[in-house]
Amino acid sequence: MTRNLVIIGSGPAGYTAALYAARAGLKPLLYEGLQPGGQLTTTTDVENYPGFPDGVHGPELMELFKKQAARFGAEYAELRNVAKIHTGKKPFTVEDDMGEKVDAHAVIIATGASAKLIGLDKEKTLMGYGVSACATCDGAFFKEKEVAIVGGGDTAMEEATFLTRFCTKVTVIHRRDQFRASKIMLERAKANPKIQWKLWREVVDIEHDEKKKVTGLVLKDTQGKGGTEKFATQGLFVAIGHQPNTQFLGPEFERNEVGYLKVSNGTRTSVEGVFAAGDVHDPNYRQAVTAAGWGCAAALDAQRWLEHHGIA
Ligand code: FAD
Ligand code: NAP
Repeated sequence: MTRNLVIIGSGPAGYTAALYAARAGLKPLLYEGLQPGGQLTTTTDVENYPGFPDGVHGPELMELFKKQAARFGAEYAELRNVAKIHTGKKPFTVEDDMGEKVDAHAVIIATGASAKLIGLDKEKTLMGYGVSACATCDGAFFKEKEVAIVGGGDTAMEEATFLTRFCTKVTVIHRRDQFRASKIMLERAKANPKIQWKLWREVVDIEHDEKKKVTGLVLKDTQGKGGTEKFATQGLFVAIGHQPNTQFLGPEFERNEVGYLKVSNGTRTSVEGVFAAGDVHDPNYRQAVTAAGWGCAAALDAQRWLEHHGIA
């Protein structure tokens, strides 16, 4: 049996694409991947998803997404990761990492992006308890608090500046004294009296209390003697870049220098019949609501493409 549409990824983009495609009668099959529900399942409160005036827990929100698409007939390949899309013939063949294959006339790639982390064990266990990789998402939880942010690129400068809306003090921790950030972003941050700087330092440990609330960091000197020091702070924002999850795709899929999928004319990738939605192609907004919007757009584009080719 050849599927009309296979969707890869179970974040806001994938489930929204599944909802629209299912309601259009396409009976989509969605591969959930190894992180069912996507990035939002790694956070606690989501306060900026419309329709939830009191906020909603990330994992709960994603369960609702899943349930809503299932109601209209979306099917899920649970905990299945796609290893390859064979694009050399039509219909395409989607192969998972168990070697099982499904043929599909159209495919939507919604595999998201992963925030790069420093690599400390505690970074993951304290995520949502004082450690965050998204200032836009979590900044408002740090009202009147002192926080630190790691990174020396535009993201770190933008997020440090944004965090000063809420926080009494924001300390940028960077491993050298040269910045990848653009001059204008760096100068804006430097001119902000709430932003302080700890250069030639890297975070080697995160300290917390018995309730897992962050209380401080251990910083290592990256020049000179390489000694360590303690630094008191109530939050740690990691802003060292993102990696789109496109490594499993072949070279026929055009990407930018970082790996984000290139799209044109809506959500079309460089392979005709394959569409992209969400953080996997959008380095600019990276929000649940925009990812969901892209999921809707990709499902409509796929539906029109299938219709145009007389397939469904
Ligand atoms: P993702 O949510 O990244 O989902 C990608 C999906 O693809 C996952 O299900 C994964 O399992 C799957 N996948 C990956 N590779 C494969 C593969 N090879 N085969 C099959 N499946 C695969 N945004 C907000 O708007 N508000 C917030 O409060 C907020 N808080 C956040 C807190 C944290 C800690 C983080 C990390 C992000 C937060 N964001 C928030 C950002 C938001 O989560 C993302 O913008 C959004 O989840 C992107 O959705 P997506 O569907 O594009 O991708
Ligand atoms: P980036 O430019 O790659 O910068 C990443 C920063 O993190 C660098 O300073 C790097 O340090 C540091 N870093 C990387 N790994 C680290 C580690 N393990 N420990 C400590 N520090 C580490 O990434 P980005 O800031 O996310 O920007 C990505 C792209 O988006 C850029 O092209 C940027 O211009 C763009 N962007 C633009 C805007 C805007 O214009 N409004 C906003 C955000 C992002 P080193 O320098 O020492 O390597």
